[in-house]
Amino acid sequence: AAVGSSPAMKQVKLEKESELRIEVNVNSSLRLRLLSGTAEIFGTEMPPENWLIFPPRMKFAIFTWYGATIEMQDNTETDYVADETPMISYVNVHAVLEGRRNRAKASASDADASQGPRVIVVGPTDSGKSTLSRMLLSWAAKQGWKPTYVDLDIGQGSITLPGCIAATPIEMPIDPVEGIPLEMPLVYFFGHNTPTVNADLYRVLSKELAQILERQFSGNAESRAAGMVINTMGFIDGLGYDLLLHAIDTFQATVVLVLGQDKLCSMLKDALKQKPNVDVVKLQKSGGVVSRNSKFRASARNQRIREYFYGLSNDLSPHSSIANFSDLAIYRIGGGPQAPASALPIGAQPVADPMRLVPVNINRDLVNLVLAVSFAKEQDQILSSNIAGFIWITDIDIPRKKITYLAPSAGELPSKFLLMGSLTWIET
Ligand code: ADP
Repeated sequence: AAVGSSPAMKQVKLEKESELRIEVNVNSSLRLRLLSGTAEIFGTEMPPENWLIFPPRMKFAIFTWYGATIEMQDNTETDYVADETPMISYVNVHAVLEGRRNRAKASASDADASQGPRVIVVGPTDSGKSTLSRMLLSWAAKQGWKPTYVDLDIGQGSITLPGCIAATPIEMPIDPVEGIPLEMPLVYFFGHNTPTVNADLYRVLSKELAQILERQFSGNAESRAAGMVINTMGFIDGLGYDLLLHAIDTFQATVVLVLGQDKLCSMLKDALKQKPNVDVVKLQKSGGVVSRNSKFRASARNQRIREYFYGLSNDLSPHSSIANFSDLAIYRIGGGPQAPASALPIGAQPVADPMRLVPVNINRDLVNLVLAVSFAKEQDQILSSNIAGFIWITDIDIPRKKITYLAPSAGELPSKFLLMGSLTWIET
């Protein structure tokens, strides 16, 4: 198209049970709409005729059960129609879960039977785990359930920033453009995008999150019956596998959906055969899942942080504030010896305590770090506290002992306790 002119439009006709797979252009957004028929995007029905605008780089599919016609700008990176999808097997899983939710709802008086399905989705990176989680949640929400979404993937983070594990109830089908609503999720800060940095901390935070959810469920029959959908990391070997088993156990998963890896499926079947109430189900990976290289992943993480402060379409206005060093207390968790060697009995080796709270000296190295704001009121609550949100350090003035930071809104931080990991952001 000529410079300045808007891209040409085209219509795409979809036969029943087929999908239109789209990668939006790197530099421009994409406008499209459902012209006729019915179609859904990752489990959420498209509104008829309304224009939807997808941001650059987004990768998604429009699936139709009965046939549809789409009108769209002709400027994508790629778009093509596929008639082979695993959607029937996915919706069959949904139907089974639906049956279990109904049974749980009908047994409200029985502590065990009133628990709806707890589904955990596992598989290598880029097997479609987040996408399948999203479909199962949206289909359930469409039928009036409020399932809880738990995201244990510290690599990307579909509920909040990377480096966190989080949970949130899903009350409506997930918006195809905006994603999971960011209102008040329950978030724990791990601080790094790989668990190898401190696997014990990852386990402790998972346990903390599971316990809180357990408590919430015990007082809420509705969310208990709706159950959970748990998304996991693509790290499935060695430590990654151990952490999957730990998550299955900690969240008391009853359904394990394994995407696209026979070996992982048979290992899990074997490991879980003593637990007759856990079903391990192998599902086909969709041919539409796009592989993202590490560079793309890094840029997606960066984009996620930008979105936290500025909004998906620059619709938020974050606030820059200045604090005195003495107003804030910054900690990191783990690493370093527990006590100096001189304080130990002769011959004893200092050991790194993964759960040690280490005060951080404020210096210029903190510039560009993203810190989590704890809900803790006292220092000894920090380890078990979830977080309120994030700030981004933009400047440190050593002589004047001042920290300049960006926060989503003006006003005092909910706590002076801040947590530091290796999460950084550079404004681009
Ligand atoms: P995982 O969670 O296993 O890493 P994702 O579910 O995030 O994988 O999928 C990877 C990418 O592929 C995402 O950008 C997602 O939107 C895209 N994707 C998934 N399924 C499809 C599909 N059927 N058609 C087009 N893109 C898809």
